[in-house]
Amino acid sequence: MTGSLLKVEVQANQLRHFLPLVEKVIAQTKERVWGGNRHVVGKVLSLFEPHTQVIRKGKAHKPNEFGRLVRVDEVEHGIVSGYEVLEGNAADTNSWLPAIELSEIERLAGVAIFGTLSETYRTCGRRGCHCQTGGPKHGPHLNLSYRGEKGKTTGYYVPKGAEEATREGVAAWQKLQECLRELAELNKERNLERAREAESR
Ligand SMILES: [Zn+2]
Repeated sequence: MTGSLLKVEVQANQLRHFLPLVEKVIAQTKERVWGGNRHVVGKVLSLFEPHTQVIRKGKAHKPNEFGRLVRVDEVEHGIVSGYEVLEGNAADTNSWLPAIELSEIERLAGVAIFGTLSETYRTCGRRGCHCQTGGPKHGPHLNLSYRGEKGKTTGYYVPKGAEEATREGVAAWQKLQECLRELAELNKERNLERAREAESR
């Protein structure tokens, strides 16, 4: 008798747990379907794992992932020295920054061009050409200058066919510098953190 009462109590408890969640799912589904609102506050994503959150990796073509992010601190030979269940979106923390940055750096490094772009207008040698009689000069021609070895400034004319790739390359170089600076900052923090840990031991 007590055994079946216990069963009923367990089931009642399960209902008490699931009913509000089910009500919430119905409410947020109504919001989405009829109200067009896909961003309900405190949205329930999984009935059986209500702690589940949406994980956005910051890449438009990547589908949303569901679950929770866990940061795992790993020391040599795969021994885990610590872990932390992270709150909310990965993008809000810098926990995943190195992974994102490294792939970005790889992409940028594949196209980067070093130098400063300038556009120039020229006069030609053709007798009677408008460029020599006050008319518009020829151009713009794209030039790229950069500081070469021994600090000597050098440069080259960028042909039309290479203009787009060169402009993208120069932008990629700038972005690459930013990424490397961010990574270097993380490396610095890690080294200082390690030194503090070693001192406190
Ligand atoms: Zn001319």
